[in-house]
Amino acid sequence: MNTQAIREKIQEVKYPGFSRDILSFGLVKEVTFEKKEVFITIELTTSDASIPEQIANSLKEKVGTLEDVEKVNVTMEVNTPDPSSKPAGGNNNTAPQNIETMQQVRHIIAVASGKGGVGKSTVSVNLACALQEALSKHNKPNKIGIMDCDIYGPSIPLMLGANGQPQIEKNLIIPVENYDISTISMGLLVDEETPVVWRGPMIMKTIKQFAENVNWGELEILIIDLPPGTGDAQLSLTQTIPLDGAVIVTTPQKAASEVAKRGARMFEKVNVPLLGVIENMSYMEDEKGEKSFLFGEGGGKTTAAALQINLLGQIPLDIRIRKGGDLGIPIVINEKEANASKEFISVANQLIERLYRK
Ligand code: ADP
Repeated sequence: MNTQAIREKIQEVKYPGFSRDILSFGLVKEVTFEKKEVFITIELTTSDASIPEQIANSLKEKVGTLEDVEKVNVTMEVNTPDPSSKPAGGNNNTAPQNIETMQQVRHIIAVASGKGGVGKSTVSVNLACALQEALSKHNKPNKIGIMDCDIYGPSIPLMLGANGQPQIEKNLIIPVENYDISTISMGLLVDEETPVVWRGPMIMKTIKQFAENVNWGELEILIIDLPPGTGDAQLSLTQTIPLDGAVIVTTPQKAASEVAKRGARMFEKVNVPLLGVIENMSYMEDEKGEKSFLFGEGGGKTTAAALQINLLGQIPLDIRIRKGGDLGIPIVINEKEANASKEFISVANQLIERLYRK
């Protein structure tokens, strides 16, 4: 029997709590077969002792069903996360490797949502601009970066007005820039024609490449715009990059809030602190200041309460936000007096307060 059949069986073993299998997560180091015995070596980083045990049991069960196999031997090489590699204010349970290209990145936060279309990318871009402004008010270095990992709708460069192909220098990708915000995106590297079904399996690789092969230089805060959904990205991310925490974006309706909670819980599973909820498209205001609640009310508040975290802000629906996105001129840059811009600045101040609290 060749090891291909064994690998196919290994592919049936999912990482506990996730929909992705351990092979595609890159955790399988070696597979050999000798005299009816299979030898599998798994390498992973976790502080949860039950995970290696669950994976080993599941491997023995699945691979053991193969006809020629009499015994399955699993060797677990478990690395515990190194607390000294965590950024200030970060958690010490994630599994970051020390990444050369990210040595000068001070804080890293992920922006996530349960489903698409809630305005996650819009929030990432405007939050980047707001953080930049708030940091300079605090007399801190204010260089911001955005890593656009939303493989399904990589819209950050467009919304930021950052055009052009990224250059390569000394084998590293140089991010593109606008408004002094650096960004790298699947949108800059992948042809729009690439079918979405091919993009799915690319998430793990993309995150790793964006971490290891991009010269991020000196950044005060790096925002990671994650694809909406299942949690695979969250796991990939925490296996690769030391996160300070995650921000959850939701809309006001109940259904959205349920999905947001599920997405957020994936971060809890991998021990990434939740920094708060941002409710987007909360209300629309007419010239008289009258508010109408197009998408219902209370989603952000309920999500935050269920997760026992703060509701950081409620961003109104504003046509200037959409236009700004399409033109590559974020509302926070262009219309500082707009309620939406003020709300983004308030969110930024709360995040800074949290990140720099010792
Ligand atoms: P996601 O990243 O969650 O898929 P996007 O950020 O791409 O969502 O937003 C989807 C669309 O909604 C975009 O056209 C964007 O300009 C628009 N949009 C997002 N938030 C707002 C808002 N608060 N007011 C008006 N338009 C918004």
